[in-house]
Amino acid sequence: MSEINFDPVTLTQSLVKCASVTPKDEGALTVVENHLSAIGCDCHPLTFSGNNSYEVKNLFATIGNEGKHFAYAGHTDVVPVGNESSWKYPPFLAKIDEGKLYGRGSEDMKSSVACFISAAKRFVDKYKNIPGKISFIITGDEERDSVNGTPRILEWASKQNYKFDHCLVGEPTSKNEVGDKVKIGRRGSVSFFFQVKGIQGHTANSHLAENSSHHLVNLLNSILEESLDEGNENFLPTSVQIATIDIGNPVQNVIPELARATVNIRFNDMHSSDSLIKWIDNKIEKIFSKLENASCTYTYDATAESFLNKAGDLYNIISKSISDVTGRNSPPEQATDGGTSDARYIKNYCEVVELGLRNQTLHKVDEFVFVEDIIKLENIYFRILENYFDVN
Ligand SMILES: [Zn+2]
Repeated sequence: MSEINFDPVTLTQSLVKCASVTPKDEGALTVVENHLSAIGCDCHPLTFSGNNSYEVKNLFATIGNEGKHFAYAGHTDVVPVGNESSWKYPPFLAKIDEGKLYGRGSEDMKSSVACFISAAKRFVDKYKNIPGKISFIITGDEERDSVNGTPRILEWASKQNYKFDHCLVGEPTSKNEVGDKVKIGRRGSVSFFFQVKGIQGHTANSHLAENSSHHLVNLLNSILEESLDEGNENFLPTSVQIATIDIGNPVQNVIPELARATVNIRFNDMHSSDSLIKWIDNKIEKIFSKLENASCTYTYDATAESFLNKAGDLYNIISKSISDVTGRNSPPEQATDGGTSDARYIKNYCEVVELGLRNQTLHKVDEFVFVEDIIKLENIYFRILENYFDVN
């Protein structure tokens, strides 16, 4: 068992040393639980399985009294390291070199988890009987299916009658300096997996065949020909991206019967996965209803709807806390870009804002975080708690 040490940099190192590639835990949640127990939190390790996904370890922990209920949400799982020999230092060594802490998960997002634990420890030590509740929603699966992670913890907490007023998600949101950018919403994501079927034949006898790939190209063209929107004050334009085109034909003298493609759409709040499915259905209808010998079928995977929290109480408290700590006088940018996060589940329960480290190296080889940024983030989180509970 690793020692209890609330220094946010040391605690980040303890977490990075656990090779918790989803859905492995490798002791990461035990490090979190041991520290939160030492603060005085009630800890509830929650292992969930089923729903066509693998088993996942999670942790819900809470401390405090009647009053406002503040939740922090984060994850201890990390993405795979990729080609380990390309790394400057072994990815789970947590090596500090010239002010940088290297390791898979250092930026995304073990530093943030460590910072919030340290901040909570300092806060509880300083103010003893805190006028409200602080809870931790920590999952071992944000990076992959996210099925037996945060959504299940939230359901469990709701059954236990825990009601959150506000939630801070610690994903790395900052840009040039810690605190210059937060996220108040996210785009949605839906993927389409197309299969066009024609008639196989000799390329010399095209009149006896029907080339599936030509019709697939037509369909992809019609999907790309007009942009869906130009974005709005809160969101970037919806982005349509062809992720794969697969024909898999090993020779040049056969007209392929089947052609497949994957299209991923990252959409803003002017669309929903339902409206995009209708849009796709229309495109298919226009091209294929005229064709006798070719048809198109598809499946889809709607992983997230877009959402937007109008800047409210929590945003204002976060903005003030950032300026208290860093001296910044312009409020943080309210962004909605990037991939999905577990905020998409939490938004159904309370106002949620995401604030974390600079988004620089996550998921890359040589992922690292600046040691000074860890210290700054811990100070901001501590100040958020002071301002939130109005004790300063
Ligand atoms: Zn993350």
